[in-house]
Amino acid sequence: VDSFESPDFYCLDDLLMAEHKLVRSAVRDFVKREITPIVEEHAQRAEFPVQLVQKFGKIGAFGATIPTEFGGGGLDQISYGLMLQEIERGDSGMRSCVSVQNSLVMYPIYTFGSEEQKRKYLPGLAKGELLGCFGLTEPNHGSDPGGMETNFIERSDYYLLNGSKLWITNAPIADIAIVWAKNDQGKVRGLIVERGMEGFTTNEITNKWSLRASSTGELVLQDVRVPKENMLPEAFGLKSAIKCLDQARYGIAWGALGAAMECYEVARRYALERIQFNKPIASFQLVQKKLAEMLTAITQAQLLCWRLGMLKNEDKATTAQISLAKRNNIEIALQVAREARQMLGAMGISGEYPIMRHLMNLESVSTYEGTHDIHLLILGAEITGIPAYK
Ligand code: FAD
Repeated sequence: VDSFESPDFYCLDDLLMAEHKLVRSAVRDFVKREITPIVEEHAQRAEFPVQLVQKFGKIGAFGATIPTEFGGGGLDQISYGLMLQEIERGDSGMRSCVSVQNSLVMYPIYTFGSEEQKRKYLPGLAKGELLGCFGLTEPNHGSDPGGMETNFIERSDYYLLNGSKLWITNAPIADIAIVWAKNDQGKVRGLIVERGMEGFTTNEITNKWSLRASSTGELVLQDVRVPKENMLPEAFGLKSAIKCLDQARYGIAWGALGAAMECYEVARRYALERIQFNKPIASFQLVQKKLAEMLTAITQAQLLCWRLGMLKNEDKATTAQISLAKRNNIEIALQVAREARQMLGAMGISGEYPIMRHLMNLESVSTYEGTHDIHLLILGAEITGIPAYK
């Protein structure tokens, strides 16, 4: 059995259009060919496979939902979600790279950018000739980005930008960075900072035990002169940055589902093949309980993703609905990965199988783009009308 076939217990395929299935199978083939054979080694070496950037561009993984006139794929939200599901079957770090480029770089330029900015950056980003990153988190401000210290002062024909951003996906290899900073009135704006601008440097974060094949770093901004035309004219306040996060969190809900599906499939096949006490371990009730619970959790997460995607297609998905899906799907993916790891015994910790890598990756996915607890509190605020996290 091919490990990449979907568990599809509730016949969700019946709800998909031909285009969705085509996109899914094309990306699935790509992941099998280009990601799975190399990613474990890259994770062991803690190296991002840079050659994938242009390949992601070629298969249309960048700017998937951006209109074709700007080089995007013009796809709907379900196709985009399925794409991320398949990429994260390969590795959460590869999906992180694609999520950032789509939701946190191309989306803000498309949504808040000027016509010139769209023409200048989007086609290159779509092709993978340019890679972007998104700087919101700072050393002293993670869950509370409104407290950010990065700031800029208006000068005659440029903005003078100072500050630093930490834990930024793609930072060490990015050509451009969307940097969120406060003006002298304390209002948050978005700026496009380009590599090569004086005073702008990036450092790689090493020693990660999670997302090891993803490149994560720091943005250092020291008296950077950002041309005035690099400000996103329509991005006003933290709410614009949060709109980008909503896009990314939606994709993460699908991605985490992909990681869960992969762990389930690997564990299911292993349980049928591994013999102990003269029987396949799949014949023991405790192993069947694990598999039954995994399939239940995956099926629930699939239904959430599909419905959320349909709401998103109608532009009706709310921040709280997206929080519910992101939080739930990462939680179930972590549970599935942990149970799968148990089922493989010692083999569960080996790089021969993808389980431990997924398990470690998912710990980051549960923290970034709003921690597990912050999403719970977003739901709490939605239910009660009382935000408990402020
Ligand atoms: P903190 O905010 O310090 O939180 C620590 C703990 O306190 C958490 O458990 C949190 O839930 C809890 N906590 C905080 N406030 C409350 C509260 N009010 N009530 C209850 N509990 C609370 N950021 C970017 O801007 N761009 C990126 O590309 C990016 N990529 C990342 C990649 C990786 C691999 C990682 C690990 C992080 C990345 N991040 C990125 C940063 C990420 O978004 C932050 O780590 C996250 O928002 C949490 O911030 P923090 O780490 O400062 O934790």
